[in-house]
Amino acid sequence: MKIAPSILEITAKPESKMFYCPNCKRPTISPKNIREGIVMCAMCASFERQRFLHYVYEEEILKAGKDIKVLQFAPEKSVYDSVGKFENVDYTCCDLMPELYPYAKGIVQEDGMNLSFEDKSFDIIIHNHILEHMPDDIRFLEETKRILKNDGKIIASIPFYKDELCDDSFTSDEDRIEHYGQADHLRRYGKDILDVLKLDGLNIEIINQNSYLTNQELESIKAFQDISGDLYMIMTKEGK
Ligand SMILES: [Zn+2]
Repeated sequence: MKIAPSILEITAKPESKMFYCPNCKRPTISPKNIREGIVMCAMCASFERQRFLHYVYEEEILKAGKDIKVLQFAPEKSVYDSVGKFENVDYTCCDLMPELYPYAKGIVQEDGMNLSFEDKSFDIIIHNHILEHMPDDIRFLEETKRILKNDGKIIASIPFYKDELCDDSFTSDEDRIEHYGQADHLRRYGKDILDVLKLDGLNIEIINQNSYLTNQELESIKAFQDISGDLYMIMTKEGK
């Protein structure tokens, strides 16, 4: 695993310590901004969750071999830029509203409830903050499992809360903002996530950040989960 420069390597002056962006590969995030809750990288506009995922993608995609077919739903700019740069990747992006991602070359329109891709088309499928928008999350899992190659992996993340699933079918914007955090969120996931997201033949593993980051990396790019509240998962097919 690549080691991010330590804070001391970045600067000798303690008062000007900057935090490192693994995507930009330079120190771009000021401690002052972090204290004020502004955790976006000034260069690539990534947040902590995307900076953490950068390490996961380097490990799972960059090292996965040649000619990897990757599908990403709703490609965030910083992820698009970093995964799009990997030379071993044949990258496809899709969304229900592709016009929201003008930088994503050749992005296609897809409905998560009914994907047009052939069975077993992709080695890696990426979706961040997608499941909580899906009218039927299990149906979406079924669809992504269908188009995943037998030895493929789905790398996903969701906003995560410490209580249990909140899915009481609130329909007004006000209710959804209050209970799910955003008007276009249809539910809120919590600690019972592995009981909620259950699909035969799909194994879901929660990513332990420490398995992708050294202590030095954790220190130099901050502890992500505490700030962002995200949960990261890797899904694989069982009984291939
Ligand atoms: Zn950056």
